[in-house]
Amino acid sequence: MIPADAPGRAGSAQPPTPALRLAERMGRLGTETAFEVFARARALEAQGRSVVHLEIGEPDFDTPAHITEAGIRALRDGLTHYTPPSGLPEAREAIAEYVSRTRGIEVAPDHVVITPGGKPVMFFLILALVNAGDEVVHPDPGFPIYESVARFVGARPVPWVLREDRGFRADPEDLRRLLSPRTRLVILNSPHNPTAGVLSREDLEAVAEMVRDRPITVLSDEIYGRILYEGTFASPASVPGLQAQTVILDGFSKTYAMTGWRLGYGVMRPDLAARLTQLMVNSNSCTAAFTQMAGVAALRGPQDSVDRMVAEFRRRRDVIVDGLNRLPGVSCGQPHGAFYAFPNVRGVDADSLRLQDYLLQDAGVAVLSGTSFGSHGQGFLRLSYANSVEAITEALRRIGAALERYAPRARA
Ligand code: PLP
Repeated sequence: MIPADAPGRAGSAQPPTPALRLAERMGRLGTETAFEVFARARALEAQGRSVVHLEIGEPDFDTPAHITEAGIRALRDGLTHYTPPSGLPEAREAIAEYVSRTRGIEVAPDHVVITPGGKPVMFFLILALVNAGDEVVHPDPGFPIYESVARFVGARPVPWVLREDRGFRADPEDLRRLLSPRTRLVILNSPHNPTAGVLSREDLEAVAEMVRDRPITVLSDEIYGRILYEGTFASPASVPGLQAQTVILDGFSKTYAMTGWRLGYGVMRPDLAARLTQLMVNSNSCTAAFTQMAGVAALRGPQDSVDRMVAEFRRRRDVIVDGLNRLPGVSCGQPHGAFYAFPNVRGVDADSLRLQDYLLQDAGVAVLSGTSFGSHGQGFLRLSYANSVEAITEALRRIGAALERYAPRARA
């Protein structure tokens, strides 16, 4: 029989929840605010409000049918078990071939570690290479997880500021001043999230000249490498002499509209690949087999869906950039890759977080403040144009109308 004063019994007093005692490092871990704004937008929708979503960075296209079919086939064929922690041999081989072909370098399967999404590559690489007190040079504005994980391991994140007047192309001359004997990692991301800046081959050669023969690894985040509107894609791994110092991060999320499949990979020297594999053993064990087989179909199958998607993104880019530049107080440069517009909104409000909140609450348009990507994103917004032309047009109409009524007030 349950005694009358047993904990949990209806009507009885609950014992107080003990304080949550987190490890000290958790206080240094950041986040990706896109997911938070998305959740707030969803909560407004649950109350019956209409919201246009321009906050989340994922293609709105379906995964091409032949890729999905390959995943289903793999499941039907019984590929429902563990795989080797670094990936299925067939998938590593397909990735090695693909990276060799697209970057003009020689990559073997033992350079490849397959991971559940591209993100674990940055996490594992920083865990594997960076000690407390080391320095990690990262783009600012930039993908927030670089800085978050650098802080997590006790490293000092060193912002490499991207300037609007250079089209947000990182300036190698700035890097020269940022490097120190403690620099362990330099992070490049081209095409870039959130600014859509693209590095040229000359930029990469200048970076190579600075890091070569120093104990520095270059993490090249190439997740948007296929979403490019002009010019040719350049990887630091293809700069002579730099391949062994470079880790390529790439994946299927953006190129093949596979964000939810969680499939990505790192390409690096084999001894480092073995260490990242060890981190896989200690965390995920392996990446799901059926997603890897879908990835093989993606890389080896027809590529016309990628071309169609990029052509559609270009059309949307033109609509959104033109519309933003018509708004008073807003100016937006031309994105060269990825699917983000990064307008300067200082003429509307110098506090872009306040503007982000206003646009969500009052206009029903979810966008991200540039400060989600580092302090040098202040005064900018990021709008993802991975949404239909109709939705983008409606968002621009709502923003235009909302800005006419906007009177910035100090945030509470
Ligand atoms: N790198 C950048 C710059 C990104 O924007 C993203 C996703 O938004 C990723 C990496 C991670 O992609 P994945 O979904 O493959 O983990």
